[in-house]
Amino acid sequence: MSVNITFLGGTGTVTGSKYLVRHGDESLMVDCGLFQGYKLLRLRNWTPLPIDADQVSAVLLTHAHLDHSGYLPLLAKQGFSRHVYATSGTRDLCRILLPDSGHIQEEDAEFANRHGFSKHAPALPLYTRQDALDCLPLLKTIEFGKTFQPIPGWRATFTPAGHILGAASVLLEVAGRRILFSGDLGRPDDLIMNPPASAPAADTVLIESTYGDRTHPTEDVIAELGPVLQKLAKRGGVAVIPVFAVGRAQALLHAIHQLKLRGDLPSSLPVFLDSPMAVNTTHLFEHHQGEHRLSSKEALALTHAATMVSSTDESRALASRHGPMVILSASGMATGGRVLHHLALYAGNHRNMIILTGFQVPGTRGATLASGGKSVRIHGRDVPVKAEVVQLQSASAHADANQILAWLRTMPEAPNQVYVVHGELGPSDELRKRIKHELGWRAIVPEHGSTWPT
Ligand SMILES: [Zn+2]
Repeated sequence: MSVNITFLGGTGTVTGSKYLVRHGDESLMVDCGLFQGYKLLRLRNWTPLPIDADQVSAVLLTHAHLDHSGYLPLLAKQGFSRHVYATSGTRDLCRILLPDSGHIQEEDAEFANRHGFSKHAPALPLYTRQDALDCLPLLKTIEFGKTFQPIPGWRATFTPAGHILGAASVLLEVAGRRILFSGDLGRPDDLIMNPPASAPAADTVLIESTYGDRTHPTEDVIAELGPVLQKLAKRGGVAVIPVFAVGRAQALLHAIHQLKLRGDLPSSLPVFLDSPMAVNTTHLFEHHQGEHRLSSKEALALTHAATMVSSTDESRALASRHGPMVILSASGMATGGRVLHHLALYAGNHRNMIILTGFQVPGTRGATLASGGKSVRIHGRDVPVKAEVVQLQSASAHADANQILAWLRTMPEAPNQVYVVHGELGPSDELRKRIKHELGWRAIVPEHGSTWPT
């Protein structure tokens, strides 16, 4: 009996990762992510899945980022009640990220209702904070390297993928087929995360391609960030750094701490981490030693590298301070969260800086800023952008094209088929060509919603 994969997301886009593996009567979903960015993509979150949620026998999560986990509350709301298998790091981060995602969905719906944006009256959230809390008990943790049976007769193994805490690649074995899901691959030279483990043998590979057309610079975050913040400190401006609460916020804190230790930044330069999620994640680094490069002393230092801002009152009080100062705040692509208030306040002054730190999904405010947009729309009004916008090339949590190919080369034998996923069309197709020409392997970029054999 054949084993098929249906690509329900993460094709032609970096968001919405959802891969449905079917064999006989059983179905298993690898990743359960939200679409983000362009409205056209976000609307897909409302499109019913081609399978009843209660017919899915298990879910495996590669990691906790919402474009891989954020659909889970909705799947559970639709009737999925089986196990969601994940590493303990992913479970811990889902406990932080999913309720917040539900909260944001509720806020967005409320905002739309208040301002009459929605064609639907009333606008409804995709799911609520309570829906997200309700799905958390489904999470079942599995150690890296331990083979388990998510469905009787199906075997699965998580291996470290770098990227963020808990991030894994998944090898799935069913009916004699071996399918490898890369998940999001970290960089072998990441500032804080360990390198991805080498890839196991498989017949079919789903490989991510976020930076399938790019090579990262060789300089590290510390070297790139130092001169930028020195310039800011000299002119007394405010740097707003939209950060991904999970991963990049901690890398930047570590970089800033190192710069201060080395005397490359004044130790008195005020730094604020204004994201309760990022604050909670920073503490998790102390509990997940072994997954990252930081010693326990350095992990502890992260929590002192910035003033942690928890309450919204403390967050608002930042507005009365004068520069120089650095504010790290979520979300990393400025799609929502407290960073919007800071952008609205500081983007209009040329003395200030907006520092972007990771991949900016097309259709987000972050992408508008990265491409030199003269204004961004925040809370229903156009905010002029006069601040200097800097994109840190070294701060990405994803492997570049050469590093992806190097990871594929660690496979003990050539696979029969590679599916290039988790990328915009350009980068995905560029990586497809390189896999074909440099490795001599069969590779395609599957279409959204298509079903392929393994
Ligand atoms: Zn990710």
